[in-house]
Amino acid sequence: MATLRFQALKDASRRKPIHFEETDRKSILFGSNVFNEKAMKQYLTSDALKGVKGAIQFGTKIERKLADYIAMGMKEWALSKGVTHYTHWFQPLTGATAEKHDAFFETSYDGSDPVEKFGGGQLVQQEPDASSFPNGGIRNTFEARGYTAWDPTSPAFIYGTTLCIPTVFISYTGEALDNKIPLLRALSAMDDAATEVCKYFDKNVKKVTATLGWEQEYFLIDRSLANSRPDIVMTGRTLLGHTSAKGQQLDDHYFGSIPSRALMYMRDLEQECMLLGIPVKTRHNEVAPNQFELAPIFEETNLAVDHNCLLMDIMEKVAERHHFKVLLHEKPFKGVNGSGKHNNWSLATDTGVNLLSPSKTPMSNLQFLTFFINTIKAVNDYESLMRAAIATASNDHRLGANEAPPAIISVFIGEQLTKVLAELEGVTSGKLSPEEKTDLKLNVVGKIPDVLLDNTDRNRTSPFAFTGNKFEFRAVGSSANCSNAMTTLNTIVAKQLKDFKIEVDALIDQKGLKKDEAIFNVLREYIKLSKKILFEGDGYSEAWEIEAAKRGLSNFKTTPEALKARASKQALDLFSEMGVMNHVEVEARYEIELEEYVKKIQIEGRVLGDISKNHVIPTAIRYQNTLIENVRGLKEIFGTEFETIAKEQILLIKEISLHIEGINSKVEEMTNERKKANNLTNAQSMAEAYCNNVKPYFEVIRNHCDRLELLVDDQIWTLTKYRELLLTK
Ligand code: ADP
Ligand code: MG
Repeated sequence: MATLRFQALKDASRRKPIHFEETDRKSILFGSNVFNEKAMKQYLTSDALKGVKGAIQFGTKIERKLADYIAMGMKEWALSKGVTHYTHWFQPLTGATAEKHDAFFETSYDGSDPVEKFGGGQLVQQEPDASSFPNGGIRNTFEARGYTAWDPTSPAFIYGTTLCIPTVFISYTGEALDNKIPLLRALSAMDDAATEVCKYFDKNVKKVTATLGWEQEYFLIDRSLANSRPDIVMTGRTLLGHTSAKGQQLDDHYFGSIPSRALMYMRDLEQECMLLGIPVKTRHNEVAPNQFELAPIFEETNLAVDHNCLLMDIMEKVAERHHFKVLLHEKPFKGVNGSGKHNNWSLATDTGVNLLSPSKTPMSNLQFLTFFINTIKAVNDYESLMRAAIATASNDHRLGANEAPPAIISVFIGEQLTKVLAELEGVTSGKLSPEEKTDLKLNVVGKIPDVLLDNTDRNRTSPFAFTGNKFEFRAVGSSANCSNAMTTLNTIVAKQLKDFKIEVDALIDQKGLKKDEAIFNVLREYIKLSKKILFEGDGYSEAWEIEAAKRGLSNFKTTPEALKARASKQALDLFSEMGVMNHVEVEARYEIELEEYVKKIQIEGRVLGDISKNHVIPTAIRYQNTLIENVRGLKEIFGTEFETIAKEQILLIKEISLHIEGINSKVEEMTNERKKANNLTNAQSMAEAYCNNVKPYFEVIRNHCDRLELLVDDQIWTLTKYRELLLTK
């Protein structure tokens, strides 16, 4: 009987690339399934269009009557494209996206008057029966329900035959039940704080938008091969498997030519992205075999987050057509690089200025320095909160695991800007002499664009790096919804800018300093206060761990430890002061994330127990029986001499028994630890118990299994091996 492994290998070997032809130029396809400005102009009255634009730009409320008109136009547009259903599309705290489809089609009870219906009511608000989404105690499941409400800042789109309306998910008491509301609130806090600060430099600035350009890494594995591994199917990663003789050591995959099956997949995926208005731009191979990356042109943060959520969803759907499985897990394979999702972040004004890009004049460079230094100070003050924002069970495999950014948050700015900060630090306190001012403007601030031109130094080991005109938050996990990281980053920087404004104004009003003197003075203090976060060296080195500990930086290697900062007093104060989340909302997220951590480890423990007992041990025993048979035969032929002749086989039989015993006893111990952990009632202690008492067994059990994989006859091994999963083209 062929095992699933051999059937899958046979299937995989027969696969040809699914040919994919682009039909139109990308510029023509782009956004054609999005209810964007072009579609709105065609389908909406001018009043309705104005209403939507006002809501997008200034957050003005859309009246019900107007909503009816907008819905009508949206419905006509959707029907013209063959759409039959609509859904409110939202991001509950599961990390995934959720949808509930309703047909436009309606008829009266006796079947007469069939009609396609969709009004302002259905557009603006819906009540999904969502009582089983995680809510961390906010919402008593039988007491009140949440509802979804349209987010006009993210346009409706068509996927398949469904009109998807991006929405927020909120409880009747007004608490955010999703990832989007806190993000929108953080972006609005950022707009307020940054616009105020911009006014020091340019009175015309009315709005500041945070921008995000993510880079999505992923693995593509043949679907049959992936499905032949119960661990991949159930946990998204391999829980065991001996590393393949050839991995990534030759570096031959990185930026190499893309295998044709994968290329066809990417082209198909990019076409879907184009239709949905996701501006994908870059595709290339990554470091590990079968690992790739896709990156779009950056966008306004809320839209970029929605687009990334949507992308993760369609990646899997398109993969089905190409007989691939997409692995978004941060560490699907031991011994080869994991996947991340770099979050490139910056701030843009409505006057078209990138606030993190140095430019020609000293004044606008002072503006650049202001935003640059305030960002550094914010990360300095809230480093542990930044770590908490990216903490998940799967990201723990990357952070601090000697490849991805370490679990210590630090900021890399490069040699030239380090020098600039050192010079600024020497600025005289209080009023500046005219010479000093001129010198600062001409020789320090004025020279920044020149020094940055040859700023080629890039530090790949830094979790938060300045890369010329943006910061790059590299520690975000590949499977994460970016909103958690973006809500945190934008909130801390907004808070910092708010404080900065207060301090500068005080120096101007109370000490009589000129505006630029006041700014220089405050920035100088910030540079002094933010020293501990700046690090230019090798983030993977042990020396940095020691140094970081001396500096008092946190170094949380596991999620339960890292998450404590999520609901610390500092975090509660921050989020409530900035109007991003109240205490209940923050604490609910903290609980949900702990629960999610527990569930992930719990499932992995169960799956590992099952496969090691149901796959590995039976196969090992079969092979051992063959060896025993062999030894028996040798004894028959060679009599007393057999002991020398069958020596190796006998050792092998013993070794197999040792590993079998190891698996059995460790699985039993692990199960007992799980039981103990399950009896704990406090979420933090339960997560810690899973982390410290259950998870350590994974490595031990795996080692026994991986040894057996090397010992047992390849012909009877049931689990698809690393080389087969990773090197099949
Ligand atoms: P890499 O980091 O792989 O070397 P780049 O430095 O070119 O690549 O970064 C590319 C990413 O940075 C893209 O996703 C791009 O959209 C994003 N990006 C560029 N400028 C900005 C900006 N001002 N704001 C946000 N993201 C940006
Ligand atoms: Mg990058």
